[in-house]
Amino acid sequence: MKIEKRITLLEDLSRVFLTTLKEMSSSGEKVTAKAISWHMEENDKTKKIIEKAFKGSDEKTSLESEKEIDKYKSKIDSLENDRKKFQHMVLDAEDQCRKETDYHKRFALTFLNMSRTQNNEPFFNLMDEYRNLLTENAELEQREKALSDIKNMILRSDVTSDQESNQGNSILKGIFNRNGNTTGDKKLIQLKNTCLKALSDLEKIFGNSNRETLLQIQENVRNSDDFDYLLSLRKDVIDLIRKFIDDIQSEKEDVTGFLKDIGEKLTSMGKHLTVTSDNTDKYNQEDFSFNETLEKEIKSVSDSFETANNIESLKSQVMSKLDYITHALKEKREEYIYRIEKSREEREELLKNFENMIESVKERNRILTEQSRMDPLTGIFNRRVFEIRIDDELTRYHRYKTPFSLIFFDIDHFKKINDTCGHEAGDKVLKAIAKRVNEMVRKPDLFARYGGEEFVVILPETDIKQSVDVAKKLRLGIEETEFEYENTKVPVTISVGVTEAKETDLQCQPIINRADSLMYTAKKRGRNIVVSDLDENGSAKEKSN
Ligand code: GH3
Ligand code: MG
Ligand code: MG
Repeated sequence: MKIEKRITLLEDLSRVFLTTLKEMSSSGEKVTAKAISWHMEENDKTKKIIEKAFKGSDEKTSLESEKEIDKYKSKIDSLENDRKKFQHMVLDAEDQCRKETDYHKRFALTFLNMSRTQNNEPFFNLMDEYRNLLTENAELEQREKALSDIKNMILRSDVTSDQESNQGNSILKGIFNRNGNTTGDKKLIQLKNTCLKALSDLEKIFGNSNRETLLQIQENVRNSDDFDYLLSLRKDVIDLIRKFIDDIQSEKEDVTGFLKDIGEKLTSMGKHLTVTSDNTDKYNQEDFSFNETLEKEIKSVSDSFETANNIESLKSQVMSKLDYITHALKEKREEYIYRIEKSREEREELLKNFENMIESVKERNRILTEQSRMDPLTGIFNRRVFEIRIDDELTRYHRYKTPFSLIFFDIDHFKKINDTCGHEAGDKVLKAIAKRVNEMVRKPDLFARYGGEEFVVILPETDIKQSVDVAKKLRLGIEETEFEYENTKVPVTISVGVTEAKETDLQCQPIINRADSLMYTAKKRGRNIVVSDLDENGSAKEKSN
């Protein structure tokens, strides 16, 4: 509203106000704000003024509002456009997604139907389950789980040992060639056996180094039924091989150091020999010139006979020459004595060096031989010695028909000892058992640590009956021995398998396997017992003591 118009309105209003005041005073009415307002309200003029004033402001407000409304309208229009655009996009995307999902579902269902054969029930049961989930549009999580089960079974089935890889019996081959016939579990067992075989080969190569870690990995393989876990063990094995290579490197450095030492000794001996031979050359030279001088002196004596005028002068000349010669000879003799003594000392020195060197080579050799034969923890023979010896015994057996037996024993619940008393206590028990058994076996027997907490005894010239007696004695001996760790008694028992070599044993491994499996039978039958060929044939007592 313009300012002039506002002033005019205020003037009109003031006039009505003054008129109202006048009327009130003339009527003698009390002047209060409320009374003035009432009279002004009653006055038509006031109403008109107010209407006028509001009309102006309404005009203006509606004008501004219209503008603003237009602004908002265009905004709303543009937003509406955007909304429509996005709605289209979403609809398109949904459409595309539906098409894709339909396509994948159709593909999966066709594939599942096509690959359906009678050959692999467990696998196709999983496929059927997955197909049902697809048709029912099941939750993604459920479908993922079913797919993962199928994947695991295919993986299990597809890992075959080398000799079987051409037989075409994996699930994938079964699907595509229609001749699959092996279940996943069988494949898992094959994979485990392949792993165990590889680990046992490594064990032979490693000898005593890293044995525990290797045994732990073997244990994990035996206890695991998870395909992915078995594959993940590759990393542990590679780490172990790396460590082994490092160990060999340091051993190589050790031997190189030793050879260097020997080399230095040889060089010093060589120097010594050079000095001796130099001295010999020098002495030869001196001897030669001495002989020349001597010859000259003797010739001058004979010349004296010709040149001497009388006997007296001859006598004195000869005497002086002889004196000279005698003196020279005496000196030479002393020199010879000195030289002999010196060369004797040199010879002795040389000999001593040589003997020292031979001694250190022998000592080194002895230590290395010892190390390669002994188990470092228990001090008894290691598996390598056992394998050589059992091979010899088998050869002898087939040649001379003399019997021999094998005892295989394993400590019962040894893991518990480790777990409750600690690894150090476990080691002490291993040492104590080795000591105790060593005292009980005979001299011709060979007692060795086969690995971990497993031990073997070869009993030459001993048949199964006698060997079972020995085994019982060992079992009882261990049971009765009081193993102590930090003043606490640790009860220890062993389970024992005993077998005798047979005509059909052309290799040692079947004998070892037999003894090992008898030992496992002992475990299954309650532990702390002896099980032998006799028990298995049913001709001996079940539990021995
Ligand atoms: P079982 O009666 O069935 O033979 O049970 P166990 O606990 O004796 O057998 P298991 O094979 O489960 O455990 C053997 C344990 O022996 C696991 C391994 O860590 C432990 N072990 C192997 N070698 C050594 C070693 O040199 N020192 C120690 N302290 N423990 C070892
Ligand atoms: Mg054990
Ligand atoms: Mg064991």
